[in-house]
Amino acid sequence: MFVLEKKKSIAYLQAPALAACDFLVHAFGTRLGGASQEEYQSLNMSFREGDEEFRVLANWSKLSAAFEIPLENFLVLNQVHGDDIFMIPPHGEYFTSRDALNCDAIVTDRTDVAICIKTADCAPVLLADPVRKVIAAVHAGWRGTALGITAKVARLMQTSYRSEPADLLAAIGPSIGDCCYEVDAATADAFSGQKSDAILRPGKKDGKWMLDLVEANRRQLLCCGLPAANIEAAGLCTVCHPEAFFSHRGSGGVTGRQVNFVMLRGTTPGRAFVLKDDFQRLH
Ligand SMILES: [Zn+2]
Repeated sequence: MFVLEKKKSIAYLQAPALAACDFLVHAFGTRLGGASQEEYQSLNMSFREGDEEFRVLANWSKLSAAFEIPLENFLVLNQVHGDDIFMIPPHGEYFTSRDALNCDAIVTDRTDVAICIKTADCAPVLLADPVRKVIAAVHAGWRGTALGITAKVARLMQTSYRSEPADLLAAIGPSIGDCCYEVDAATADAFSGQKSDAILRPGKKDGKWMLDLVEANRRQLLCCGLPAANIEAAGLCTVCHPEAFFSHRGSGGVTGRQVNFVMLRGTTPGRAFVLKDDFQRLH
């Protein structure tokens, strides 16, 4: 069961198996403890949803201070609902413009880079290999999940970082639950290749289906050879808990984003980035 923690004003959730790894820091974000107002109240981490920039930047500063991670060590993808994976090399520069970040997952063995996934219903999946010291963060909405992005990441950790599936730990954070995620037939059809009987059930209305994003991603991890005991899920629906989480569907569309991140601790904090502009890194 995930545990609610607090650092300064920031409330966040931790997955027990990842929290037990002393070589990493991770958090599944809530909307609690920030400076944003109205629809974005209060810890909105996205510059792209119409919130005032100075408030979003203040929220990032609060997160940075609470976790004692320099702001320049956080990296946020563009998250384009695809299945491309951004691999950060262990040393040197790795991007000079945000165009390179049109991806929905990050994998790295580099220390001191807090790899971030913003969510407001989509499932954030964090992975860690305690043996090879490799981490990944995945943005799994219905499109990415239908494309098998979480399986793709788990396979890439095996092929490019020599991870053994039995070593991998995975945690699936709060997302829209199958209690609330009604989708149309076209969306349901996108899952036809993925044991759809386990992840789709008929909705209340004709032609509608209830989609279980968490189970779909859990099954992808199982198919890659992860032991069931290594996969934890928050079991919290973002629509059912509007006091704690931003929800795109629950809000009717105008809302903020919580951030979820994982980072390998370095022995000496390093300046990880080429871009000095906070907006470029976090936008
Ligand atoms: Zn729900």
